[in-house]
Amino acid sequence: MNTVCLTFDFDALSVWLGGYANVTPSMLSRGEFGARVGVPRILDLLATYDLPATFFVPGHTADSFPEAVQAIVAAGHEVAHHGYGHEDPSTQTEEEEHASLHRGLEALERLTGTRPIGYRSPSWDYSQSTLRLLVEHGFLYDSSLMADDFRPYHPRLGDRVSKDEPLQRGPEAPIWEFPVYWALDDWPHFAFNFDPLRVGLSAPSKVLEIWQGELDYLRGKAPGGVLTVTMHPQIIGRAHRLAMLEQFIQYALDCGDVQFRRMGDVARELGS
Ligand code: ZN
Repeated sequence: MNTVCLTFDFDALSVWLGGYANVTPSMLSRGEFGARVGVPRILDLLATYDLPATFFVPGHTADSFPEAVQAIVAAGHEVAHHGYGHEDPSTQTEEEEHASLHRGLEALERLTGTRPIGYRSPSWDYSQSTLRLLVEHGFLYDSSLMADDFRPYHPRLGDRVSKDEPLQRGPEAPIWEFPVYWALDDWPHFAFNFDPLRVGLSAPSKVLEIWQGELDYLRGKAPGGVLTVTMHPQIIGRAHRLAMLEQFIQYALDCGDVQFRRMGDVARELGS
């Protein structure tokens, strides 16, 4: 059986607050769209096909839109860690990163009653400390790196890397990496921005072709693999894109050998 993990980064306002110097009301309203419109539409779609999913939720979103996050939990989906204020760990000191990790954990535990077992870096990037901090805090899996595509793997701690000597490999970390990829993320395809300019606004047919192409290869050449798709309620929640997601779901279901699973369930089954 092949696996698709539908993952939704429920950034809401935090992606703007955490990544842009001059945050304006219109930017924030795009984030609010994710909570007001995107999440309810996504939950409806998932319920229609009885599919489980994983939502990576910054603590700032949990504290700002608790009803939306509770609706996600009530529908049986997984809630995982996505920083507090959508900070980029690679730009934080270890002290700051530790504080974001803790504040995010506290916010999710307070709201959902469950400690998340999964983490996704808000920037899909690490500092030198990130992986060690995730191990120390008992996370079972991460989904931020790109060293594979369809096979979860163990990322390494303490690699020594310089351009003057070959890679010196560190030991494998005891957590599972579910690799991501920009073409399997709705944001670069669709998100438009004036400053800095980001074109986005792709036709959904192009994105559907890419996602189906990845799934076709997995089924033919990497059977038993895991395809991770990353989406954002404020992006995929737009009507024409949600119609594309439904087409992708129908395509995968029609294959007859594809199951949809929460990332945490796959990680638990993989063991150590
Ligand atoms: Zn995010």
